[in-house]
Amino acid sequence: MYPIRLVPVLMLTGLITGCAVNPVTGERQFITVSPAQEVAMGEQAYVPTQQSQGGVYDVDPELTEYVQNVGARVAAHAENPLPYEFVILNNSIPNAWALPGGKMAINRGLLTELNSEAELAAVLGHEVVHAAARHSAQQMTRGMLSQVLVVATAVVTADSDYGDLAVGGAALGSQLITSRYGRQAELESDKYGMTYMSKAGYDPTGAITLQETFVRLSEGRQTDWLSGLFASHPPSQSRVAANRATAATLPAGGELGVERYERMLAKTRALKPAYDAYDEGRKALADGNTARALELAERALGQFDGEAHFHSLRGDVRLVEENFAWAETNYTRAIERRPEFFYYHLQRGRARKEQGETDAAVADLERSLEFMPTAPAYYTLALIAEERGDVNRAIEYYRPLVDAGGDVGAAARSRLARLELPSNPSQYVPFNCVADDRQNLVVQVRNDAPDAIRNVQVTVTYTGSDGTPRQVASVIRGPLQPGSIGSVNTGLGPYTGGSCPVAVTRAEFVE
Ligand SMILES: [Zn+2]
Repeated sequence: MYPIRLVPVLMLTGLITGCAVNPVTGERQFITVSPAQEVAMGEQAYVPTQQSQGGVYDVDPELTEYVQNVGARVAAHAENPLPYEFVILNNSIPNAWALPGGKMAINRGLLTELNSEAELAAVLGHEVVHAAARHSAQQMTRGMLSQVLVVATAVVTADSDYGDLAVGGAALGSQLITSRYGRQAELESDKYGMTYMSKAGYDPTGAITLQETFVRLSEGRQTDWLSGLFASHPPSQSRVAANRATAATLPAGGELGVERYERMLAKTRALKPAYDAYDEGRKALADGNTARALELAERALGQFDGEAHFHSLRGDVRLVEENFAWAETNYTRAIERRPEFFYYHLQRGRARKEQGETDAAVADLERSLEFMPTAPAYYTLALIAEERGDVNRAIEYYRPLVDAGGDVGAAARSRLARLELPSNPSQYVPFNCVADDRQNLVVQVRNDAPDAIRNVQVTVTYTGSDGTPRQVASVIRGPLQPGSIGSVNTGLGPYTGGSCPVAVTRAEFVE
């Protein structure tokens, strides 16, 4: 079992509040989250957030090293020494983000839109400031991120192929990065990010051309752009102008690094048509056009056999077509190429379960949970545990899903209630004692289970007139619909209020 880890965010409630100096701007500010908490939060959310957005782009290790070097070169000039870290995500949406505490990511789809190392330094410098100036912590303090407290266990739909599968830490990560920082924080990030890049020896005009590119692309109104970077970083002419004004205050010149950038990007730019075909194939599959999706997966693979996502798309088509043996083979090929991505393990586990390979399916599904907790993995594991008659384990797997939305959440609540009601009916049937007009004890019960119940037995314990303890059971036949109240007059009295000496000792679902 890999239980969802929620602790750091929940710790935020009830904290002592305090005043702090912003490490970047030097301004005094009121912040309720400690720097150590920010780092812990970011570290906890980093891997699942990466996984929920396509995982790490690892087919070009030299590019990864390059991006990390540029990031480190810029971050070295931040006032706030955090454990800064950069990864490239295997995602075509042009986007970049920073978690609290300095964990950052840039998407493959943004790298291919940039034209120089200075522009890359501008993007990374901007994100470094979000972390260094503690913009997330400021938002949490203002309550703008308070929602995380409530939805941390919920399945959250994010702008990604996989985000809507995430529960727990990964869902939390999406909350942290999709929240808007606000205009003030964006301008601050632009300004100080340019200072860092200038100190690192880059030409700050890279930040101007970057913003110009963003404005041009947003005018083209490409929907991917709108759903990605622009949702959190609205581009505008005024931002271009602000960056121009900042550049005028910084030393002129510095490195642009156009040729080096092109050399480093050569492989990834050459692979772009294959990823485009893959993205189109994902859309076709989502639209139910499996033939077209398979054709596009084959096209992507024909151009580049080394990308595990392409094999996995082919597997998804076969899974939908219930060609489980072929699907398993495709997912195995994906896992061989990239062992550390939850989705291939999740999907192979499903394909194996369908073929009756239960032990192997369990191993795959549990492996997927190591990388990212998802509703389908928990649910499938719970179903297998039920098939095996292992009620306790099934309950463990259903429990993380009780707050999940959608069909999976509803199904999990229903299955869990069926497993728990026989042994623990009072968990689903709260009760209350009232007196009728002759002071007889009336027991009221409410059905808090997700489905209709009947034959609710309530047992009253009382002391008889001879001083010995006695128990009397009464039954409310029902059926009681979810949320409705039933009652039974026990005939015992006089009941004058006070304690309610009742237990719900049995209840069953209406089948
Ligand atoms: Zn920003």
